[in-house]
Amino acid sequence: MSELEALHEQIRACTRCKLHAARTNAVPGEGPERVDVLFIGEGPGFHEDKQGRPFVGAAGRFLDELLQDIDLDREQVFITNVVKCRPPANRDPEPDEIEACREHLDRQIALLRPKMVVTLGRFSMARYFSNAKISQIHGQPKKMQGVIYYPMYHPAAALHQPSLRRTVQDDMKRIPQLLAEIDRLAEEEPPEQAQQLSLF
Ligand code: URA
Repeated sequence: MSELEALHEQIRACTRCKLHAARTNAVPGEGPERVDVLFIGEGPGFHEDKQGRPFVGAAGRFLDELLQDIDLDREQVFITNVVKCRPPANRDPEPDEIEACREHLDRQIALLRPKMVVTLGRFSMARYFSNAKISQIHGQPKKMQGVIYYPMYHPAAALHQPSLRRTVQDDMKRIPQLLAEIDRLAEEEPPEQAQQLSLF
């Protein structure tokens, strides 16, 4: 069993926070063990809890469409969430739940070593962009220690607010260009220094 699989077994058995009590399945996430792009959503919903897989409901179908638009399918990326168990009635994850799950996500990221971390929605955004407003920073990449962090609206936001659909599509369409730029930027950037990219 790989380290990542072993971690996912631990997540499936995790009782670190109160969310474990009502879950059907924990949802560690899925994708290959080495990826260029990691997507981090918020937390499992009804369908994800039932199936033990991330983004398999309506938001997941839209995410699949968005990936298709940039010639990716979900087998080529890793998809996970800030919390691995469904918050009751799909409420927001609470700070203690996010904190309890933090080490799981940190270890996933350390093992996956993505070139680019795409945050979907404000809870994953808050890991990398403190006190930021998603309406102000979506679609603006930030490079830190060789990794591009790229905040996007959550796909469900566009389902609830159709005027955001185009914004989410446009932000997604920048990902291939950003990936292509990563190696060039690695040479230009002084190490350890966060940099706001203004590429295109
Ligand atoms: N929304 C999320 O944030 N994550 C999922 O896995 C499904 C819906």
